[in-house]
Amino acid sequence: MAFELPSLGYEYGALEPYIDSKTMEVHYTKHHKTYVDKLNSALEAYPELTNKPITELISGLDKVPEQVRSAVRNNGGGHLNHSFFWSILSSEKTEPSEEFLGKLKEYFGDFEGFKSEFRNSAMSRFGSGWAWLVLNKEGGLDIISTPNQDSPVSQGLIPLVGLDVWEHAYYLKYQNKRAEYIDAFFEIINWSAVEEIYFGEVQNIKQE
Ligand code: MN
Repeated sequence: MAFELPSLGYEYGALEPYIDSKTMEVHYTKHHKTYVDKLNSALEAYPELTNKPITELISGLDKVPEQVRSAVRNNGGGHLNHSFFWSILSSEKTEPSEEFLGKLKEYFGDFEGFKSEFRNSAMSRFGSGWAWLVLNKEGGLDIISTPNQDSPVSQGLIPLVGLDVWEHAYYLKYQNKRAEYIDAFFEIINWSAVEEIYFGEVQNIKQE
């Protein structure tokens, strides 16, 4: 068994004009694929690890053999983060439900407050990394950012919304204008996918 590039679920041009087709193609077939390939080659000597879900490896990096820990953190993190990212994007405009909007209001004042805090988090990530809306261990919402390919799951947090702010994610279309890319991202968040994760996980927290 080896880790595989997941299906994108839509065409490279599906997110135009917010994310251009060429960026999607390069991002998916080159950047994401390279993380998968490097993860697999790092784990050639550890076949037992390739049978585990990637989330399990990244949420328990201390259990990964030290020789390959940083390769798993970076390339496994890259694989997990990108797989997640593709899954919460939509070519069709979606809106948060009343119930989820209520949650966003509870934590961020209103929908604009959520966007503003998320935008700040994505803008203030120096260099490469990600901005996230996460579900914390208490069942609350937080906005965080992580460097490089570090995943919130390594901190015991569940990603709900994630934005890749590496330059490779936006440079072709937006060059240095990260702020415009962030605003474009708000137009293509798949809120149905986000809420499916949220309501499923909140149920698990309640049952624990
Ligand atoms: Mn990327």
